[in-house]
Amino acid sequence: MIVQRLVIGPLETNCWLISGDGRHLVVVDPAGESMRLLGVIGERIVEAVVLTHGHFAHIGAAAAVAAQTGALLAVHELDADAITSADRNGGRIFGFEVEAPAADRRLVEGDAVEAAGVRLEVLHTPGHTPGSLCLLAEGHLFSGDTLFAGSIGRTDFPGGDARAMSRSIARLAALPDDTVVHPGHGPDTTIGRERRINPFFPRA
Ligand SMILES: [Zn+2]
Repeated sequence: MIVQRLVIGPLETNCWLISGDGRHLVVVDPAGESMRLLGVIGERIVEAVVLTHGHFAHIGAAAAVAAQTGALLAVHELDADAITSADRNGGRIFGFEVEAPAADRRLVEGDAVEAAGVRLEVLHTPGHTPGSLCLLAEGHLFSGDTLFAGSIGRTDFPGGDARAMSRSIARLAALPDDTVVHPGHGPDTTIGRERRINPFFPRA
């Protein structure tokens, strides 16, 4: 599995290009800068666009990528309504009025996105938003704004839930130590490293 990172936009969101075969892609969180993103995608074929959650800072190029490539757009069912409205995705408040098209697929816990030669398992990890999800494939976790290197996502935005976040983090903490974590912002980490340094991980 090939994992490529682009850092996009004023909030330095990580957009992930994932491929099992080098020719087809799953794009996770096409955050913005659609011309640049489409340029990096190049001749590769985007089979699916998956959003880790519905916040404006993760969806800005979803419309352009879906329109240009015809890729299926997938988001957790509980964040599906947020993506189509700058009033609901936080964009209006922050002055980034972006909206995504309606999702083609509404994901739930236990689903898998099978595309581009990879199978991405959907873990519903609410807390940052009601429909936040992580994607797990071949020892790689795409953790959105749920888990960061040394920290976790905020729970004080509308729809945030600190208790749900604690349960979600406990669940991620049960993954193997060598799981490579690709967060929605900031550097990669591993579950083992977070077990040692992340103050929000459950105490052993
Ligand atoms: Zn967010």
